[in-house]
Amino acid sequence: MKKIGVLTSGGDSPGMNAAVRAVVRKAIFHNLEVYGVYGGYAGLISGNIKKLELGSVGDIIHRGGTVLYSARCEEFKTAEGQKKGIESLKKHGIEGLVVIGGDGSYRGAKALTEHGFPCVGVPGTIDNDIPGTQFTIGFDTALNTVIDAIDKIRDTATSHERTFIIEVMGRDAGDIALWAGLAGGAETILIPEENYTIDDIVGPLIKGHERGKKHSIIIVAEGVGSGVEIGKQIKEATNFDTRISVLGHMQRGGSPTAADRVLASRLGARAVELLIEGKGGRAVGIEENKLVDYDIIEALAQPHVIDKGMLKLSKELSI
Ligand code: ADP
Repeated sequence: MKKIGVLTSGGDSPGMNAAVRAVVRKAIFHNLEVYGVYGGYAGLISGNIKKLELGSVGDIIHRGGTVLYSARCEEFKTAEGQKKGIESLKKHGIEGLVVIGGDGSYRGAKALTEHGFPCVGVPGTIDNDIPGTQFTIGFDTALNTVIDAIDKIRDTATSHERTFIIEVMGRDAGDIALWAGLAGGAETILIPEENYTIDDIVGPLIKGHERGKKHSIIIVAEGVGSGVEIGKQIKEATNFDTRISVLGHMQRGGSPTAADRVLASRLGARAVELLIEGKGGRAVGIEENKLVDYDIIEALAQPHVIDKGMLKLSKELSI
């Protein structure tokens, strides 16, 4: 393999730039030419592809977002769109592609692989919901952003003796809510992997209140429902002084933590090694601090599993 491409796709995450840098530098280290595809699969279809040099990725390791831009592209879900993408790559003589993104982006990489074009998936999403890896690039940074917000909200919750509902990202996966809830000492954590009734939420709140607890932090993953709506129901059921905070897109930005930069560097470099070894159609990941790779098709078939033991622990610690 002499020429490879790299793109970022789907929801952006802090650390994607560090992964792009690792792909470019590792490729050039091994005397490959490397091309950046700008704007995810949309840029692949339109042929927005430029050669990258060592200096193209200078000074980006610490920056959030992605210098290659990201996009969502419906056309790429069709075989016709995928074939256009392969034509764009072939025009530049590119023989392999590193795709940095979430599970939707992996499906795109899987489709290209099935058309005979070797791709390697690198897990970049704040949601931590990609099979085949214990951690995704951006999760640790998002978690620290959420913790920072929880700590600040806790100060005012204590002063005013209020109940705070904090809505965090996570449509299908509760990892951000669970980890941030445990690290932030939340009284209740609501994740999409579990079912709740309003009594399940209100019961422990009232119990805590009766023993003198005057403020509470409830973390809700967006996939459970609207934090605003849940807040209203809690207010109606308890008449506690209740406030709602929806953290939103701030969770996707910011300078990546050291952990995310290291993870991105390791995974990005490994993806290049796999392409050099002629192993397309793989997804790289980290398990027990060791680099692993799986068949991308098999990886996508695996369900994302949340650590229910951590949820149980958070309940035990917040009595
Ligand atoms: P993420 O990668 O963060 O999960 P999306 O689910 O929006 O984000 O997916 C990003 C892009 O990947 C989509 O806009 C689309 O271009 C491509 N994609 C998603 N699903 C498929 C699929 N089944 N086949 C081909 N491409 C897909």
